[in-house]
Amino acid sequence: MKTKLLVMAMMIIGALGGCAAHSSDSVEEGCDVFETKDGTTVKMYCIKHGSVRMQVGDKWIYVDPVTTAVKPETDYSTLPKADYILVTHEHFDHLDSVAISQLTKQGTVLITNARCHDLLGGKGDVMANGYSRTLAEGWTVDAVPAYNNSPDKLQFHPKGRDNGFVLTVEGMRIYIAGDTEDIPEMADIKDIDVAFLPCNLPYTMTPEQCAHAATMIQPTVLFPYHYGQTDIQQVVKLLEGSNIDVRIRDYQ
Ligand code: ZN
Ligand code: ZN
Repeated sequence: MKTKLLVMAMMIIGALGGCAAHSSDSVEEGCDVFETKDGTTVKMYCIKHGSVRMQVGDKWIYVDPVTTAVKPETDYSTLPKADYILVTHEHFDHLDSVAISQLTKQGTVLITNARCHDLLGGKGDVMANGYSRTLAEGWTVDAVPAYNNSPDKLQFHPKGRDNGFVLTVEGMRIYIAGDTEDIPEMADIKDIDVAFLPCNLPYTMTPEQCAHAATMIQPTVLFPYHYGQTDIQQVVKLLEGSNIDVRIRDYQ
């Protein structure tokens, strides 16, 4: 709960001073800054669509990095190498072997599902839904279900194949949902400081589903992401009056 209070404090500072955590920091475009209960700075950078970049202390985490398959093109060779890469599933807007190569250094840990592991020729560590792993002292990742449950969408993301991830870093909990609908398992995802929920059709959620998912999870901060052509302001409207701080970034 302390983390939540700190996140809220950072939100207020963020509202006052752009994304800088402290007035002495330089303001960096495209990042949101948080602080964990032990004072570790967490910066979240929007890349695009389903691709997220985070810095926790001096470590870099990338989720679903993609180079050319999603515009604008991203050259990851110009960005800091990854300590951890999380890949949720095999679709072209999530799995990109070029991006993974560009980001990999000695010691990079790649975590993904069985299908991506096979498609990458055996690269990466497989996690199935329900499994947890320690990444470092005070750092864990849980693989959680991500799937379609609307009868007309079952073929996109069948149950049991793909992952969402809950990262716990220095007491801060970050949920990256992957491609999913507002599935009942989300009710078990608790104490989330920051959530990334997808919102585009036909593959993931409508704004109503996205707002429903957020209501189940109750994150302090919500980044609707992977939203394509969706009128994402609808999510903001639907969550007006809730305690959730909805932040829209360029995750088309
Ligand atoms: Zn997908
Ligand atoms: Zn996708």
